[in-house]
Amino acid sequence: MTHAKKGLFVVFTGAPGCGKGTQARILKEKTHIAHLSTGEMLRQFAEKDTPLGHELKATLERGEFANDEMIIEMVKSRISEPDCAHGFILDGFPRTLPQAEVLEDLMAEQNIKLSAVLEIQVPDEIIMERILGRYACMKCGAGYHDKFQKPQIYGVCDVCGGTEFARRRDDNRTTVQNRLINYRLLTYPTIPFFEKRGLLKTVDGTGTIDAVSRKINDVLGLDEDK
Ligand code: AMP
Repeated sequence: MTHAKKGLFVVFTGAPGCGKGTQARILKEKTHIAHLSTGEMLRQFAEKDTPLGHELKATLERGEFANDEMIIEMVKSRISEPDCAHGFILDGFPRTLPQAEVLEDLMAEQNIKLSAVLEIQVPDEIIMERILGRYACMKCGAGYHDKFQKPQIYGVCDVCGGTEFARRRDDNRTTVQNRLINYRLLTYPTIPFFEKRGLLKTVDGTGTIDAVSRKINDVLGLDEDK
């Protein structure tokens, strides 16, 4: 009998702006497992001056999803890289039922048992305020917010001293409304899918970043000082 690979293999899910990316970065810092953000991968593709890059840029700006086949290929190849052998945090994948089904098959093929699917719950009213105020350092990617997380020195990144910041092009009101609709329509059905498999853990994402991170550690059974 073959034993499942040892490690922490988690999925972070939830509506746009629920804090998946922020919390995934914190968990990566703590555990050193790989952080796979499909949104980040797509934003990098969308920067390229190629037909695919142009198409993706338009898709992201409309708040629509990239097609399942492409995303699945991207994740399949990323998951088989060596840094994922002992754990990963999937941030933004799976986002549709077909993606969830493929993930299940992929995990079985690779002899990996998912540790948990963590849903971070935040009401829509809070989401809009969070997304419209957020921006990031262009040099190191550290995240900030106009109201909730300003740099200590105005215009200077706390982490790397960078002085240039950018907002995501899809963080505007119209696009966020579409992203929320697509979340309800296409991503939400993955919640009962994972619940049926006993993998779903739910965390209230409305507190401070630290408070939510503590709850996540708790739910994943990670001790505070690890
Ligand atoms: P995120 O950074 O997770 O908020 O993702 C940004 C955007 O990338 C989403 O609004 C989608 O357009 C696209 N995207 C990210 N992950 C996926 C996925 N798994 N399937 C389809 N589209 C995705």
